[in-house]
Amino acid sequence: MKYVSTRGNAPELSFADAMLTGLARDGGLYVPAEVPQISPADIRAMQGLPYEEIAFRVMRPFIDDSFTDAVLEDLITKAYAGFGHNLRAPLVQLAPNHFLLELFHGPTLAFKDFAMQMIGQLFEYELTRRGDRVTIVGATSGDTGSAAIEAFKGLDAVDVFIMYPHGRVSEVQRRQMTTPSESNVHALAMDGDFDECQARLKDMFNHFEFRDAVKLAGVNSINWGRVLCQVVYYFSSAVALGAPDRKVSFTVPTGNFGDIFAGYIAKRMGLPIDRLVVATNQNDILHRCISTGDYTKGNVTPSISPSMDIQVSSNFERALFDAYDRDGNAVSQLMDELKTGSFSVSQGALQSLRDHFDSGRVSEDETLTMIREANANMGELLCPHSAIGVKVAEDLRDRAVPMITLATAHPAKFPDAVEKASNLRPPLPNRMSDLYERSERVTRVANDLTELETLIKERIAK
Ligand SMILES: *Cc1c(COP(=O)(O)O)cnc(C)c1O
Repeated sequence: MKYVSTRGNAPELSFADAMLTGLARDGGLYVPAEVPQISPADIRAMQGLPYEEIAFRVMRPFIDDSFTDAVLEDLITKAYAGFGHNLRAPLVQLAPNHFLLELFHGPTLAFKDFAMQMIGQLFEYELTRRGDRVTIVGATSGDTGSAAIEAFKGLDAVDVFIMYPHGRVSEVQRRQMTTPSESNVHALAMDGDFDECQARLKDMFNHFEFRDAVKLAGVNSINWGRVLCQVVYYFSSAVALGAPDRKVSFTVPTGNFGDIFAGYIAKRMGLPIDRLVVATNQNDILHRCISTGDYTKGNVTPSISPSMDIQVSSNFERALFDAYDRDGNAVSQLMDELKTGSFSVSQGALQSLRDHFDSGRVSEDETLTMIREANANMGELLCPHSAIGVKVAEDLRDRAVPMITLATAHPAKFPDAVEKASNLRPPLPNRMSDLYERSERVTRVANDLTELETLIKERIAK
């Protein structure tokens, strides 16, 4: 399996190299040259299998000979061993034909653990085999950073630096990043918002001298390896509800478009998915784009669902690449236009996006109301992100098709918003109940590329 860049101007790479590289050298994102197909019979054969076994069957065809079957099985087992639920991704029913997929039973209580725990295993194995070492730098609005630190802490082959917007992550998120004591972990509180953190990260990747000097690797949701790990739970949940013999739809609380893009890949592989619904908060660039074709950057307005507070949605480029019939030049042109603030999607490409995706936007007040109502009427305490998903799903869903809404974080990760809405303060699971007592370690940094690069070089030289 070869991987190609969405901008058509970077070398084709194997799975392992695409994973270790992150962003392509032409500024694009790696995607598989073609999407492997899974037959209805193979999907049916997944019914009743453990999550790990489904993960192996879904991921195997994308991974070429970078990893042997035995190694892949072993790494999958290790990746999910630390989850607090035997099913890994259990489904609960909210209403007739509406189900919640709980993706928050991993070590940092958000769905990002599904990908990050697996990527940690893949990186460690591959780098050790090569006798190599990398510097992982990530930008986070909260959950990616904690998941990355949890997955990579203490590994020999990596240093991990995480930039988060100072003062704009929840206390639980911050503590999950600042309390690990392993010396290869570096939490950086940057002045600015998440988009600025992400922009500095992209700058580092485009600064080849620095990139090569520190062997920069990325594990943001632009990393193809992460997208791939997330494809698995679309299969496990659809199969649990009768796929391939019954169609299902998904609603996904969306920010960087990584999670829902994994659903799109599942559909392209042959999983019978009816609709993929993008749910956004008030930072609604994706909802605006899917409804009108206009992709105009606004300013980020901080919300109670901070992991979706973005105005530039990195993985959307992957969807555009397909919508423009895999024309890297067309995508390159759009991304150039975006530097001045906006682009508009052509009629043909917009139609092609709408063949798969619907979208909805939820205000802050509606989010709080949804949390309250879900607790009162559905018996489920939702985090604000998941509440946005449930609200959009309830508004848009076709009652005849099972809808699966992704619960992307545990309510205890966002206790203030949940308490404001419901008067209930969700407790942390036992395994992390001492989080508030652990001591913190963090470096304040300016929104300045040179300063950041100097700091990283100094730290890894030690
Ligand atoms: C990251 C995150 C999202 C958004 O996921 P994308 O893949 O960026 O669209 C939604 N909810 C939570 C809790 C998250 O951590």
